Amino acid sequence: MTDRDLSPLFKRLVRRVSRASIDFELLEPGDRVLVAVSGGKDSHAMLRLLREVSRRVPFELSLVALNVDQGQPGFPKRTLPDYFEANGYDYRIIEEDTYSIVKEKVPENKTYCSLCSRLRRGILYTAAAEMGATKIALGHHRDDTIETLLLNALYAGRLGAMPAKLVTDDGRHTVIRPLIYCSEAELTAFAQEQDFPIIPCDLCGSQENLQRQQIKSLLDRLTAENPKVRGNLFASLSNVRPSHLLDPSIRKEDPDVNDEEPVVRLRVLGH
Ligand code: SF4
Repeated sequence: MTDRDLSPLFKRLVRRVSRASIDFELLEPGDRVLVAVSGGKDSHAMLRLLREVSRRVPFELSLVALNVDQGQPGFPKRTLPDYFEANGYDYRIIEEDTYSIVKEKVPENKTYCSLCSRLRRGILYTAAAEMGATKIALGHHRDDTIETLLLNALYAGRLGAMPAKLVTDDGRHTVIRPLIYCSEAELTAFAQEQDFPIIPCDLCGSQENLQRQQIKSLLDRLTAENPKVRGNLFASLSNVRPSHLLDPSIRKEDPDVNDEEPVVRLRVLGH
């Protein structure tokens, strides 16, 4: 497929993933990238976009799609293997019944997602080591990032979002987020355009975390008044003024301490 065959949206998303890869050194020569595919729109888009970007980089790298079948009731076992095979992807499926563990450990009225994700992440790390993967790609996008920023600030008293690239504390794994510059709206439109075989994310019966729902509706309300809100919030993450924060550990390290400077220097990253 040449560039001319790609839709404008496809090209835009390829540019965003390429940009993220350059800005954060996500893809490097010789990488074997384990691409975590749940079957949702974001992970499908990530796999498709990474394939396209990997064809454009001036070095060799390989991708392997990995799905963890967590034993959720009604999980369509053939959907992803059929898709991967039809489209020529290298892939693995790992079956681990974390659903039973989560059902047993988490009280009825609580969301399963936190424990479920931690168990899945552990499985991904083990698989990455066994498969000799150099990177693990996760499908979080721009909107996940800004929601996490607000969740941390409002409910955990901490300033931090999601890193585009993270080396685990033990130094054994590198997690990358190639979709960090892609908005959820773009990915939703792309999934429709590409007609991915989406696996619904509610098979487990879990409700989305209430606080995240509240953050989403807050952002929706603010966006209705000012469509730039999400883009501006995201831009603020790459326009940080440590001297205007109150953390003594970073304040000491900031050579540019000037309390008279304006706090906001907005640089919008094309969103
Ligand atoms: S929605 Fe279900 S499968 Fe997805 S992370 Fe939450 S508990 Fe796990």
